[in-house]
Amino acid sequence: MKLENRSVFGWPPSAAAAAPCRDGLVVHYDGSNQGLAGKGHDACRTYWRNTRKFHMGPSRNWADIGYSFAVCPHGVVLEGRGFGRVQAAQPGGNNTWTSVTFMSGDAERPTAEQVAAFKELRAWLRGKGVAGAVRGHRDFISTSCPGSILYGMVRDGSLTGNPQEDDDMPLSDADLKKIRDIVWNTDTAPAPGTAAKDNPTWRHVNILRDAYSSVQQVKATLAQLARQSPDVDEAEVARLVLADLTPERIAAAIPAELAGQVVDQLAVRLNTPKE
Ligand SMILES: [Zn+2]
Ligand SMILES: [Zn+2]
Repeated sequence: MKLENRSVFGWPPSAAAAAPCRDGLVVHYDGSNQGLAGKGHDACRTYWRNTRKFHMGPSRNWADIGYSFAVCPHGVVLEGRGFGRVQAAQPGGNNTWTSVTFMSGDAERPTAEQVAAFKELRAWLRGKGVAGAVRGHRDFISTSCPGSILYGMVRDGSLTGNPQEDDDMPLSDADLKKIRDIVWNTDTAPAPGTAAKDNPTWRHVNILRDAYSSVQQVKATLAQLARQSPDVDEAEVARLVLADLTPERIAAAIPAELAGQVVDQLAVRLNTPKE
């Protein structure tokens, strides 16, 4: 996220009181079409400074710029009051929601960069405990804000990336169990080795069990070898088992009189024909 905080504009920490602001994000727009998408980013900074002057001037007389954040057409997030401050933005939600104004007007479709910046800001605020909900200013009071284009995007999910998304409804335990059942107990994984001939697909859970049981059997064979002959270099055999599971390679690492036994066992375990 490209964030320009208050210090970029030479502003001191906001005088606005602390507030939770965790119910979600409220989208606003600029009442006029400024054409900032066609100008350099300096114009956005000038606009943001002028907005604060206007909000703190005689016609509004507020303690600070009204909004928590803005997103500009160049994909930059500009800090207003910042997160966790009472706003002068949406009466009924100034203490409980976080305001984000789009630096675009009623006739201006937000740029892809601007929408991406909004999503990045939203993800960042989610990390601070803000809920996933996104509303428009007009959901709080009677107003044209955030304009028909932006309000359409609030409604159709364009600003969250998923129209069906409901971040406040985590999967239930029953749904999670269903998903686990599908992942582990559906016959879709390619069967290992020569088993594929008669039974081309296995369940994931059975492949896991098969691999576990093969490893246990190889371990048991190694332990048996160690008991029979103190000359076996167990660590070397284990290294070869892990590095390259061919019976020939393993046979080369152990005493000749035991090699046949190991090759037989591994040939069975690995389902490969013995030379
Ligand atoms: Zn508004
Ligand atoms: Zn900009």
